[in-house]
Amino acid sequence: MTASPPNSALDFDAIIIGAGLSGMYQLYRLRELGLRTRVFEAGTDVGGTWYWNRYPGARFDSESYSYGFSFSKELLEEWEWSEHFAGQPETLRYCNFVADKLDLRRDIQFRSRVTSAIYNEDTRSWRITLEDGSAFTCRFLVTAIGPLSTPTLPRIEGRDSFKGQAFHTARWPKEPVDFAGKRVAVIGTGATGIQTIQTIAAEVGHLTVFQRTANWAAPLHNGKIDAETQAKIKASYPEIFARCQETFACFIHTPDPRGAFEVSDAEREAHYEKLYGERGFGIWQGNFRDILIDKAANATISDFIARKIRERVKDQKTAEKLIPKNHGFGTRRLPLETFYYEVYNRPNVELVDISETPIERITPKGIKTSEKEYEFDIIIYATGFDAITGSFDRIDFRGAGGLKLKDAWKSGPETYLGLMVHGFPNMIMVMGPHTALGNIPRSIEYSVDWVTGLMRFARDKGLTRLEATPEGVKDWTDHVKEIGVGLLSYEVDSWMTGINRNVEGKTTRIVARYAGSAPDYRARCDEVAAKGYSELTLA
Ligand code: NAP
Repeated sequence: MTASPPNSALDFDAIIIGAGLSGMYQLYRLRELGLRTRVFEAGTDVGGTWYWNRYPGARFDSESYSYGFSFSKELLEEWEWSEHFAGQPETLRYCNFVADKLDLRRDIQFRSRVTSAIYNEDTRSWRITLEDGSAFTCRFLVTAIGPLSTPTLPRIEGRDSFKGQAFHTARWPKEPVDFAGKRVAVIGTGATGIQTIQTIAAEVGHLTVFQRTANWAAPLHNGKIDAETQAKIKASYPEIFARCQETFACFIHTPDPRGAFEVSDAEREAHYEKLYGERGFGIWQGNFRDILIDKAANATISDFIARKIRERVKDQKTAEKLIPKNHGFGTRRLPLETFYYEVYNRPNVELVDISETPIERITPKGIKTSEKEYEFDIIIYATGFDAITGSFDRIDFRGAGGLKLKDAWKSGPETYLGLMVHGFPNMIMVMGPHTALGNIPRSIEYSVDWVTGLMRFARDKGLTRLEATPEGVKDWTDHVKEIGVGLLSYEVDSWMTGINRNVEGKTTRIVARYAGSAPDYRARCDEVAAKGYSELTLA
């Protein structure tokens, strides 16, 4: 093999694609190692998800104080979350605060969408090309492109013919949208649609919600953080983050060790009632240990939530439409809501069940279903993302010998620890397929630190080529497929099982995400590092 050129002959030691939370933290860490690093970001500023998703009501449903970066005491001390679940404007301000504090922007090139990344075996380097044709070389390539960052519009005939305003929630304009008196349509009732609908219902003239599949949702119970609670939070950050490290998906909620049928009917009902009245994901992540694996156990919580929907929605025909019939509670990613169901009691809101009366086309005036044509001033597409692999698909990644990543993954992603791919040396993925997602910043911090450890190792040993082995990839991919067997979520169509009917070829379920526990994931990755990365091919 030819000797690779020194790093100094390349434009950068490392290139990171994306300046969301992953890319920002990775930049900070690689800079600390002394690597010449450049981030390329399509947007005009930092924030990733929080930069793009400016739709009305966007907010996270992990507790704010469990969401921020934990690695810097200074950041923790200087930042104060105003609400238990912060809204998008505040979270974007937080991203900017971090970028300012760590002086990140000087190494980030904005308005720079990466279109291709091509590996050169002779030079053991990557060549990254941007939309404007400019190109840069580097030794190591870190993708920080997010699991939910490629929005998808519905494949409905006539979409471009609409004469009013139309927005996808993940491409929301920076200028305010005036809803006063407007006839507005929302297509999509996932976590995004629910947040949008509950936020704009009182503002618009008339709102029509087009629902294809009803989703289970539970109350968020957001609220302001008062001064006393703020002080308590700040004093207990070490415990909060230690707890997140112990739980299955890095949220602060721990599952109840009991099974749903190990308690009396009355106790079970009281348990559900309590969780329904508490903040956040407790009802999903802190519920009986078997509700997401046992159909009968799941039916008890599904039945409880269905009763809540019937209580909260006055018109029982509408209530029935809002109750999912094809999947159990929590088997898709649970949206958390704030008076979402009550929206349907408003005289200016109508629910159209398009599983009964499908949308036939978008017209210049609005939306035509099999029943009638509705006229609108604004159509909002809350139709989700080409998740997990979608942001990889839109960059032309080519590894050793010109192998296309799209071809390597044509039957679903194949990865080593969700971090590397055989045939793509020196490319490392943060929050790529097959990693533990959960409370995302917690997972990001772990993955970035792991990548940083590998980069330090490569720097210290003078390594210029790091590659996952075919065996390593096969073992991890098999493990990821096996670990989720038995989960009810595996039997349901959702972005988590790789389904998006708006994207060619994404109609068959795949295993795209690691469904094991975060502590198990970290233990496996730590073991690899402790063994000197000997499972990789190093040169
Ligand atoms: P999503 O969960 O995939 O929901 C998309 C919605 O659009 C679904 O109701 C889907 O219906 C509908 N849809 C898609 N194509 C359609 C078509 N052609 N015709 C009619 N309806 C169509 O996407 P999302 O709501 O944007 O959420 C994605 C994920 O982002 C969430 O699960 C969550 O992980 C994350 N998120 C987080 C937060 C937060 O932290 N608070 C907020 C928002 C989003 P079907 O179900 O029938 O496909």
